[in-house]
Amino acid sequence: MKKDIHPEYNKTTIQCACGNSIETGSTAKDIRVEICSSCHPFFTGKQKLIDSAGRIERFRKKYEKFQGAK
Ligand SMILES: [Zn+2]
Repeated sequence: MKKDIHPEYNKTTIQCACGNSIETGSTAKDIRVEICSSCHPFFTGKQKLIDSAGRIERFRKKYEKFQGAK
């Protein structure tokens, strides 16, 4: 690897909304995610979503309006 052309590669902790944290290496620091491998339904097999910002609810309302307009 050439020096000076690569950004710094640090040890980083990815903090998930479910409380899980994963240690990894990245050029970014303190990564925050809303879903990770331990809480994603694909990996857990369970349907469990952390809707922290109410985005799913908002989408549902929007979708209802859309259907009503037809
Ligand atoms: Zn998670």
